[in-house]
Amino acid sequence: MDIKYVSTTCPYCGTGCGFNLVVRNGRVVDTAHWQRAPVNGGKLCPKGRYAHEFINSPDRLTRPLIKKDGQFVEATWDEAYDLIAQKFKSYKPEEMACLSSARVSNEENYLMQKFARSVLKTPHIDHCARLCHASTVAGLAIVFGSGAMTNSIGDIAESKCLFIIGSNTFEQHPLIGRSIIRAKENGGKVIYADPRDTATAKQADLYMPFTSGTDVAVLNGLMQEIIRNGWEDKEFIEKRTKDFDKMKEVVMKEDYSLENVSKISGIPVESLKTAAEWIAKAEVASLIYSMGITQHTVGVDNVKSTANLMMLTGNMGKAGGGVNPLRGQNNVQGACDMGCLPNVYTGYQKVTEEAAQKKFASAWCCGIAEGKVGYTVTEMINVLADEPGKLKAMYIMGENPMLSDPDLHHVEEAFGNLEFLVVQDIFMSETAELADVVLPASCYAEKDGTQTNTERRVQRLRKAQEPPGEAKEDWKIICELAGRMGMGDQFAFADPEEVFNEIAAVTPSYHGMNYARLDPDGLHWPCPSIDHPGTPILHTEKFATPDGLGIFSPIEWKPPAEVPDAEYPFVLTTGRIIWQWHTGTMTRRSWSLEKEAPTGWIEINPEDAEQLGIKDGELVTASTRRGSVDVPAKVTGEIKKGVMFMPFHYKECAANVLTNNALDPIAKIPEFKACAVKVEKITEA
Ligand code: SF4
Repeated sequence: MDIKYVSTTCPYCGTGCGFNLVVRNGRVVDTAHWQRAPVNGGKLCPKGRYAHEFINSPDRLTRPLIKKDGQFVEATWDEAYDLIAQKFKSYKPEEMACLSSARVSNEENYLMQKFARSVLKTPHIDHCARLCHASTVAGLAIVFGSGAMTNSIGDIAESKCLFIIGSNTFEQHPLIGRSIIRAKENGGKVIYADPRDTATAKQADLYMPFTSGTDVAVLNGLMQEIIRNGWEDKEFIEKRTKDFDKMKEVVMKEDYSLENVSKISGIPVESLKTAAEWIAKAEVASLIYSMGITQHTVGVDNVKSTANLMMLTGNMGKAGGGVNPLRGQNNVQGACDMGCLPNVYTGYQKVTEEAAQKKFASAWCCGIAEGKVGYTVTEMINVLADEPGKLKAMYIMGENPMLSDPDLHHVEEAFGNLEFLVVQDIFMSETAELADVVLPASCYAEKDGTQTNTERRVQRLRKAQEPPGEAKEDWKIICELAGRMGMGDQFAFADPEEVFNEIAAVTPSYHGMNYARLDPDGLHWPCPSIDHPGTPILHTEKFATPDGLGIFSPIEWKPPAEVPDAEYPFVLTTGRIIWQWHTGTMTRRSWSLEKEAPTGWIEINPEDAEQLGIKDGELVTASTRRGSVDVPAKVTGEIKKGVMFMPFHYKECAANVLTNNALDPIAKIPEFKACAVKVEKITEA
C-alpha cells in the first residue's frame, strides 16, 4: 500500500493552520497533525480535523456542463471553452463582470483579475471580501495607510489586555483562541463585547452584552472615559498621529457620556468604566474584531473607531498590541492582495493612477481595462436588478451569491436578468444551478499554490491528489480560456510557481517572496526584497500614510439603516457556527461536521419567547420587509433580550432571505449584522 503525507494549509478560516493530508494509493483519506505547522503547532479545530471528508464526495463536479432547454448536458472542455469564448467576445467589456474567490489560491486570484482586466478588459472584478471585511480594507487604509491586521497571531499571547468586539473568536478562529488563552495564562485580561453570550464570552474576564449596531457609541464612550481620566498616551499621540483634537471634540460630547452610551448600548456604566481603565492602563493592549464590526452600513466608521481607541492608548506598533481584524475565509486576505477588488491591482496599487495602469499594461504586454473603478459585488447585483441590460454576462469562480448575499429574493431577480453566466466550482451550488455553463474545478487538496492568512502570512498549498474525472485546477482553466480568447501568450504558465513569480515581480509587498523562501514557515508581507525577513508587526516606527502619521477620525454614532418598530420589533443578527462553513458546500458534505448541526435555527431570548408564546424547538416564521423563512426556535439566555440570531449556512432556512442589502457608503458592505425582524408561532390551519 502506498501511503504519503502532504503538508498543506487549511481551506476554511483565515487563521491559516497547517496539517498533513494522508494519501493512500493516490487518494486523500484523512488529515493528520503537522506538529511544526507555523501557525497552529499541530493543533486543529473540528473543521480542520475533518477537512478531508468532502474531497472525494460523490457530488463533486467531474465534467463541464452546458445548459440546453433548461437542463444541464455534459460537454467536452472544447465545447465549453468555445461557447464561453464566443459569448464573451460578443459583449462590450463593461457588460461583463467577474467574481473571484477567497476560497482559491493567490495564483488563481491573480489570474482571475488579470483575465478580467486584460482579456475581457472590464473593470468589474470583485469577490466576497465585499461581504466581510471591505470596511477593514477601506477603514484601516485611511487611518494607517494599510488595510490589514497590524500584528501577528503569535504576539496576541503577549497582550496584557485583549478587547474583543464583534468576533466570536473561539468558534470562528479557534486556533487564534489558543493565543488568547496564552495571554490569559500570562496575566492578560479579556474584555468581550457582543450581543451573544458565545464561547468567547465564557473566556472573558469582563463580558459586555450590547445591542447590535451601537459599536461607535461604545467606542466613543470608552475614549471619553479615558480622556476624562487623563489616561491617554500623550507622547504617542504627539509623535505618531494627527487630528487628535478633531476626534476629541466629538468623543467628549455629552452624547457619549457613559450614562448615554449605557442607554444606547445596554452595557452597564460600571462595565464601561472597568473596560476603559483596563485598556488604558494595560502595559500593552490589543483590539480584536471581526464581522460584528464590519458588516454594517457604518462598517468603515466602526473600523476607524477601533483604530482611534488603539492610537489613543498608544497600543500600535508593538508586540501584544494593535488593531487585529480576523479575516474570515482561508484566502480572503490573499484575494484582496491579488487585486480582486474593483479599485486596485495587486498590492493595493490604485487602478486610477496612471503609473499603475502603465505598469500593468507593460507587465501583461497588452491593453487593459480603462483605469476606472468597477462595480463591487453588491453594486453588480443592484445594477443587474435595477438596470437590466447594463450587465449581461458574468464569470464566477468559487462563490455562491445565491446563498451568501443579502436579500436573496433580490439576488435571484438580479441573476434572472443575466444573459450569460459561467460558474466554476467544485459542487453544484445554488448559484451554479442558474449558470449557462458550469466548469468543474479543483479543491484545495488538488492544487499547488499559496494562500495568505489573516496575519498577512503567505503559505504554501500542496497538491495531494488529482482532481476527480475531468475537473481541472482553476489556474489551468483560466489560462486555457484566455488562450481560447486569443491571449494565450500572456497566460502561458507551466505551473503555479511561474504565476507566483509574476505576482512577486509586480507586487511591491510580495517582491521578496518565492516558493523556496516560503518553505516551511511562510513570510508576512510586506517583504520588499529577497533578503527581507517579512514583517509580523506593522507600523513599528511610522504608519504607511504619506507623512507616516496615523490619522484620528471624528466619528459620530449612527443607528443601523433599519431599526425595530411596531411591525418588526426585534433586531436580527447573523453569523457562523463552529461546525459549518459559509454556504455549506464543503461542510455539509462532511459527515462528522454535518451531524453536529444538521439544520439552522433562530436564537430567541427566553423573555422574548415567553412574550411571543414560543417554545424551544418549535418551528416559527421569521419575517423582515424582504421575506420570510420557517425556522426552528432555539430559546436561550445566550442571546440578549430584543436581539435574535440566525446562522447563515442553511439553504432550507436561509437567513439571507431576511437580511438587509443597505450598504456602507464607502466600503459597499451590506448590513448583515442588524435589521428589523418579527417572529411568529406557526399555528395549525
Ligand atoms: Fe482551519 Fe481555522 Fe480551524 Fe485552523 S482554526 S483548523 S484554519 S478552520
